[in-house]
Amino acid sequence: MKELSIQQAATTQGVSRRDFLKFCSMMAGVLAMPKGYSEMIANALANSKRTPVIWLEFQDCAGNSEALLRASRPTVSQLILDVLAVDYHETIMAAAGEQAEAAKKATIDAGGYLLVVEGSIPQGEDGAYCCIAGKSAIQLLEEALPGALAVVAIGSCAAFGGVPATSPNPTGAVPVSTIVGGKKPVLNLPGCPVNPVNLTATVVHFLTFGELPAMDDLGRPLFAYGARIHDNCPRRGHFDAGEFTVAWGDEGHRKGWCLYKMGCKGPVTFHNCPAVQYNDGTSWPIKAGHGCIACSEPGFWELGAYNQADLQRYAPPATYAPVQLPTQKLDPATTGVIGAVAGAAIGAAGVAAYKTLSKPDEEPTPPPARTTKK
Ligand code: SF4
Repeated sequence: MKELSIQQAATTQGVSRRDFLKFCSMMAGVLAMPKGYSEMIANALANSKRTPVIWLEFQDCAGNSEALLRASRPTVSQLILDVLAVDYHETIMAAAGEQAEAAKKATIDAGGYLLVVEGSIPQGEDGAYCCIAGKSAIQLLEEALPGALAVVAIGSCAAFGGVPATSPNPTGAVPVSTIVGGKKPVLNLPGCPVNPVNLTATVVHFLTFGELPAMDDLGRPLFAYGARIHDNCPRRGHFDAGEFTVAWGDEGHRKGWCLYKMGCKGPVTFHNCPAVQYNDGTSWPIKAGHGCIACSEPGFWELGAYNQADLQRYAPPATYAPVQLPTQKLDPATTGVIGAVAGAAIGAAGVAAYKTLSKPDEEPTPPPARTTKK
């Protein structure tokens, strides 16, 4: 049977030309490219064949596979399945046993596939903690490496070790990149779970430009992990104004105030959640009223969900008020510098945040009493 291009495959799935172009525009947006690039993406996808994918799953909760399956925006979900020809995914494929292994072997023998790895790799006890079909995760990964174009470590466990690698790390879990050891390019797509839009955008970039997108020093694509959540957070105005939630259900929480004091790690986390959101742009943790837990950062599980992020390390006084100084009084010289550097408005906002964060927490406003209808 003649192999279809991605656009042709999309058409057979009922995706109209209009929806296809809308998808290309959205991908250009997610990839932080100028609008004109959507045409380049459309041309590339109109001529590209689907990318074969081998998806290996090791030590994790399968949350990233779940996230892929939950992408329900019609054109996107169809296109995800059309852009990615997932030849082997032991969790979701219909085949099982020898049939599944045969599908994987055929793809490995053909080469030229994208190797997506979900979950961390246990090195303890010679890899005995995670075995599939009699082979350890280390063996399975090394077996699939030679024919791979590139490796995508999907989710925080694969990218950074995640929960399995948290102290005391009983299985000796390591990130995928440790096992790959430079033999193939590795792109990390952390998140707990990953946002499937970022996986699709990575593949679209690969098909359009023939290379992986630019990455930061943690191997994360800059289009998705280049901006700090705190800088794009819809609650940021409340942070600057010194308006904080100090107890779940208090007045500030009900009014949508900043969640920093509840442990929000937005100031130390780089991810495009505010722009892309989860569940097809429906919501994300901060919008839902819970602070960011830094799930796309290394070692996030060790940070403690309710510990306050260390602003001093990430928020230089030139751009933020010195909110963590161990004094109860404002330093006029400091606030003057802030005003001079950032302007009167930012200076005033900084003073408000300083005032609120540099004094002990006030008694939280109790949530309203629940009334029961009689
Ligand atoms: S601390 Fe969290 S909730 Fe507050 S502005 Fe920053 S990212 Fe948003």
